[in-house]
Amino acid sequence: MPQYDFDLFVIGGGSGGVRAARMAAQRGARVALAECAELGGTCVNVGCIPKKLYSYAAGYAESFAEAPGYGWTLPEAPRFDWQRLKAQRAQEIRRLNGVYQGLLDGAGVRLIPSWAELVDGHTVQVDGQRHTAQHILVATGGMPFVPEVGGREHGVVSDAMFDLPEFPRRLVVVGGGYIACEFASIFRGLGAEVTLLQRKAHVLDTFDEDVRHFLAQEMGKTGIDLRLNVQVEMLRRTGEGVLVTLSRGQQLAADTVLFATGRRPNTAGMGLEAAGVALDEGGAIVVDDQYRSSVPSVLAVGDVSTRLPLTPVALAEAMVVVDRLFAQGRRRMDYEYVPTAVFTHPNVGTCGYTEAAARARFGKVRIFCSEFKTLRHTLSGRSERTFMKLVVDVKTDRVVGLHMVGAEAGEIVQGFAVAMRAGATKADFDGTIGIHPTSAEEFVTMREPMPG
Ligand code: NDP
Repeated sequence: MPQYDFDLFVIGGGSGGVRAARMAAQRGARVALAECAELGGTCVNVGCIPKKLYSYAAGYAESFAEAPGYGWTLPEAPRFDWQRLKAQRAQEIRRLNGVYQGLLDGAGVRLIPSWAELVDGHTVQVDGQRHTAQHILVATGGMPFVPEVGGREHGVVSDAMFDLPEFPRRLVVVGGGYIACEFASIFRGLGAEVTLLQRKAHVLDTFDEDVRHFLAQEMGKTGIDLRLNVQVEMLRRTGEGVLVTLSRGQQLAADTVLFATGRRPNTAGMGLEAAGVALDEGGAIVVDDQYRSSVPSVLAVGDVSTRLPLTPVALAEAMVVVDRLFAQGRRRMDYEYVPTAVFTHPNVGTCGYTEAAARARFGKVRIFCSEFKTLRHTLSGRSERTFMKLVVDVKTDRVVGLHMVGAEAGEIVQGFAVAMRAGATKADFDGTIGIHPTSAEEFVTMREPMPG
């Protein structure tokens, strides 16, 4: 008789949890997974996937506007139907929920559709029933954080944006991170008047300074009213929507106010601390380099732990955990050259170090920058420009930072990230033949470093 009911009990059916459960079961482990909501977590239900679908929807507005420059006459002004987009999205998300269910069923994972609580390092309680497991993996993700602002109940968080009953004609976005910038761009593209309120002097705090400035400029050109160095004091509901009072006393009227003011790990009400699992001051589960918490049989991956809150990172961490618990344990996770994209219009794509971080880490660096209008916009009539930047470590000639603001930056940077992980030097970039005419070729044709 095995000592435990399961080899692995996973709490949370998002990206990291489902991947871990499925992979462990495929390696012969007896696995259960508890999830009290739809399968797929934030990414599938209220994050990456629906966000990207809505970003595509916004992209059509750009294409319609550009089409006359290419000889097209549109029979009538295109109209956007918010209710139809929502229905289309909901259908696709339901399909994906089913795909996740199928993956778990196919692998033989026992799915428990309920809230789970930790009792101790080897016991989980669900619906009053206890289950024991040799290993417990917490992969419960995160949730939006809303600061203590008077009347904050009149605002919404990103989860609600996908299903707003009516399309907001006037949208105010509070925050200047990934989510704030993406939603501002999407809703602007779909036709809303958008104001973005950021407390700092720039958006996208962790990104390269040139990228931040360039993006802010481009977002401004699309008609987003970007207000920096401003705090929200209060929200009040009026007959015509929500009245937002700012720190300088100004007021703004909105149909919807989105708080995109960061996310916090989902660790409350799960019995973690009572079971001895240490949390950091932000509520995240503290893990070691093998994703073990302070209770070694309890592990954590993804947004609930202290690392990078990105879906592909959670997936990779889950693979490392499963490999260690149920296979050879050779897989390693490297956080140094994790590429990422912000799906603003235009996109931001980035991999490696910002210029400032590279100077701090490597000392002397060479910087290559390029800014241009893409071929597409010679006839489209749009004034959108593209920005690219390389950061090169002088000592080794290695490209340690690669940044782009421009169409399809996410697609472009993904490929370059492979080269960067492999240690590509500037000489390797220079020796690579470009694909003409593309924007991406600019990354292999930048010859003159910036002065200084
Ligand atoms: P971020 O940490 O990126 O941004 C939070 C924003 O809220 C910052 O601009 C921050 O300001 C502001 N803020 C925080 N607290 C307050 C406050 N009290 N008052 C006013 N403003 C405040 O978080 P997000 O929620 O946008 O995204 C969370 C994470 O999710 C990201 O870091 C990213 O890893 C991931 N994500 C990834 C996406 C992708 O890959 N495309 C898309 C969406 C999310 P300040 O800059 O001053 O700190």
